[in-house]
Amino acid sequence: MTTNQDLFDTAQILMPGGVNSPVRAFGSVGGTPVSMVSGRGPYLTDAEGKEYVDLVGSWGPALLGHSHPAVLDAVRAAVDKGLGFGTSHPSEAQLAELVRSRVPGAEMIRMVSTGTEATMTAIRLARGATGKNLVVKFAGCYHGHSDGLLAAAGSGVATLGLPGSAGVTEAQASETIVIEYNDRAALETVFAEHGEDIAAVITEATPANMGVVPPEPGFNQLIRSLTEAHGALMIFDEVMTGFRITEAGYWGASGREEGWIPDLFTFGKVIGGGLPTAAVAGRREIMEHLAPTGPVYHAGTLSGNPVAMAAGVATLENATAEVYRHIDLKAQVVADALAAALSDAGVDHTIQKVGSLFSVAFGTSQTGVHNYSQAQAQEAFRYGPFFHAMLEAGVYLPPSVFEAWFLSAAHEDAAIDRILSALPAAAQAAAAASS
Ligand SMILES: *Cc1c(COP(=O)(O)O)cnc(C)c1O
Repeated sequence: MTTNQDLFDTAQILMPGGVNSPVRAFGSVGGTPVSMVSGRGPYLTDAEGKEYVDLVGSWGPALLGHSHPAVLDAVRAAVDKGLGFGTSHPSEAQLAELVRSRVPGAEMIRMVSTGTEATMTAIRLARGATGKNLVVKFAGCYHGHSDGLLAAAGSGVATLGLPGSAGVTEAQASETIVIEYNDRAALETVFAEHGEDIAAVITEATPANMGVVPPEPGFNQLIRSLTEAHGALMIFDEVMTGFRITEAGYWGASGREEGWIPDLFTFGKVIGGGLPTAAVAGRREIMEHLAPTGPVYHAGTLSGNPVAMAAGVATLENATAEVYRHIDLKAQVVADALAAALSDAGVDHTIQKVGSLFSVAFGTSQTGVHNYSQAQAQEAFRYGPFFHAMLEAGVYLPPSVFEAWFLSAAHEDAAIDRILSALPAAAQAAAAASS
């Protein structure tokens, strides 16, 4: 049998760190990365034939669980007609319409292939539409790996403890102003000092790449009112939260009730149902600045690929109210059990949770986690032993404490039970960890 170790040994010779995306290398939890060979429902199976309950969900897309029959059927039907034509085709508008029906502020949509491309395009569009240069982002918010957005980013940048990235010029970094999340005073100061020059504020709808960090009440509204007052755009990055937190994303749990709409949204992950699709969407008069109607260039050989559109359409069509109810409920069950297991083991922690997205932060109960500094100050060393105890018991968690846990519609009782029974020993391992 080819073991995970064999596969990783080969991969390390051929690929930097043995991976195609850093967090997969298990750098912050240690040990040998697990090579998965198949996924079905809430389960993944590795190259050694071991089965895991999956709480990563392909980092979000697997809202319905792995290999959902309706999604696979739609993909097979699309594949039978051809893999892509480099032309217009009917399912692009079908997916666009599904998005707009859920998020009316997504009046027009441009399909792209990754979340990184969506936010990069949104930033260019904001600069092109406003004629201004500066972009404000929040420390710990991850918007993909385009140059200007890597300053103080979360996700893998947080996992590796990097300040940003080598290879990003000072000129690019200097056009991104980074402030702490949830810091109303800092946001007001930035607009007081640079309001004339700010093209956009980009924010995760609710941050989930420094662990989950809920926006304090009114924080997104403050972004909305300050951008509006200064002629800047609000870019609401729903790449992770879109069609996951509610059927209308985090906007559906916030802006819709509170009566505000961002200028631009970015979507990814769930919208592609597991295939490479993402989107930038928003107000018609801004979106029309994109080529060919406007001067802001964006193009893509694979943008709107028919197989990817089919996966997205089938995923959204099957993401019913019942799906969201189920995921919310199961997330609460797992989060409660996690908290109980840690408390029983005497591990200081907070459970950071927004809707069905949650994460754990160790040693933070005094302050809670409201921003990146607090997220980074946690006892992250407790996560490695915790992670490996869960892995041993057949539960695949995100291999970083800075990532959210993802439930799916396919997590039925047997899968949940396996998670719950693994938690007490993992909590003991976290308690015994030393830095
Ligand atoms: C994952 C993510 C991205 C980047 O998407 P990719 O498809 O990995 O490029 C951007 N923003 C947020 C909020 C994300 O979670």
